[in-house]
Amino acid sequence: MNEHSDNPFENAMRQFEKAASKMNLDPGFLEIIKRPRRAVIVSLPIKMDNGSFKVFEGYRVLHSIVRGPGKGGIRYHQNVTLDEVKALAFWMTWKCAVVNIPFGGAKGGINCDPTKLSPGEIERLTRRYTADLVEIFGPDSDVPAPDVNTNPQVMAWVMDTFSMHKRHTETAVVTGKPIELGGSLGRKEATGRGVMFCVREALKKTGKDLKGVRIVVQGFGNVGGIGATLMAEQGAKIVGISDISGAYHNPDGIDMAKANECIIKNKTLKGFEGGKKIPAEDLLTLDCDVLVPAALENQITADNAGKIKAKIIVEGANGPTTPDADEILSKNGVMIVPDILANAGGVTVSYFEWVQNKQSYYWPENEVNEKLERIMVESFDSVWNVGLEYKVNLRVAAYILAIKRVIDVIKVRGVYA
Ligand code: NAD
Repeated sequence: MNEHSDNPFENAMRQFEKAASKMNLDPGFLEIIKRPRRAVIVSLPIKMDNGSFKVFEGYRVLHSIVRGPGKGGIRYHQNVTLDEVKALAFWMTWKCAVVNIPFGGAKGGINCDPTKLSPGEIERLTRRYTADLVEIFGPDSDVPAPDVNTNPQVMAWVMDTFSMHKRHTETAVVTGKPIELGGSLGRKEATGRGVMFCVREALKKTGKDLKGVRIVVQGFGNVGGIGATLMAEQGAKIVGISDISGAYHNPDGIDMAKANECIIKNKTLKGFEGGKKIPAEDLLTLDCDVLVPAALENQITADNAGKIKAKIIVEGANGPTTPDADEILSKNGVMIVPDILANAGGVTVSYFEWVQNKQSYYWPENEVNEKLERIMVESFDSVWNVGLEYKVNLRVAAYILAIKRVIDVIKVRGVYA
């Protein structure tokens, strides 16, 4: 396998195989859990606003239903490929198992540039995609959610199209819906909140708490912006933030209210005056206690890993650290809370949304947040204890825990071969 890959599937496989090699697993079982259960490609002809027809390619990969229905987002992006969707579905299986929610892994996508499509074209594309996958999606088989460039409105169209085909309203077929359509309170903040809990628990293991701790956050969107704001509320000092417009440093602590105001006004941090603008590549190596990459994959690489000063990294984004960087950081004694644990708050509250939809009974936000906290803290401790037992870092420990949970279910279910 390529030692310097930026292919998410290859990187995910390297992480997985490292953990599997410590577990003395039946090679047959290993082969079963590595492969996606099903991968579907659909051609989606859409009538464009100008009256012409255009055909888009869509995908849905169901990696595993061993522990429950497949769960995973739908991504709209011009670089979406079947391979990428396969990798993301694979990650979802382990993420759901780490936090011990009864879902398997899935993911979907449409190869399109949504910035070049009108709202009407996006709606028709979403409805055609859903209609073509109506036998695949279902509250008990495969439950989509938002991902890059899809949002609660897109989920509402998925839910409506599915329901029209089934001739009854089926809210639990998709999560991340608007609140008035059965979305869960607290879902929007869930991933950032889960990141905050992981930072707090990681600090606890080193005898510290969030008060006064210096934190740098890369990415100021749903995960990074909300995570940074919640950590600041708990007394942390956010000394560096960044987004697509650039990076900002303030050793005295950045005022989160000002940063959020800037986002509301300008959509990005462009022109932000609450910190000194620094080159984007300098953000990750700033002097701080905790680093939270919450933007994109492959940000911490063999080139910058050795210069990172933070002693704790909490991965808000999926796949922000390459396997080579992982080794350098491990050797340097940096604690990394891996993505499949650190950003699992989102899928956990998606699970709560699904449960609420199935019961037609809705919980107040404090109940959602308390249940999320319990799951995140328990999962953090479980991963920590596996790390101590196997003498491995938290990433390997998280995979070992997840693989064990999936294999244990396969063993009792048996293989229908
Ligand atoms: P988002 O689009 O809301 O925010 C992304 C942020 O990253 C934006 O502020 C953007 O400007 C910034 N960004 C983009 N390119 C950058 C660059 N080169 N340098 C610095 N910043 C850059 O997305 P999000 O939902 O916050 O997702 C962020 C990451 O978290 C992704 O990897 C996503 O897969 C992962 N994630 C998100 C959720 C969720 O519930 N939103 C759940 C699990 C994982």
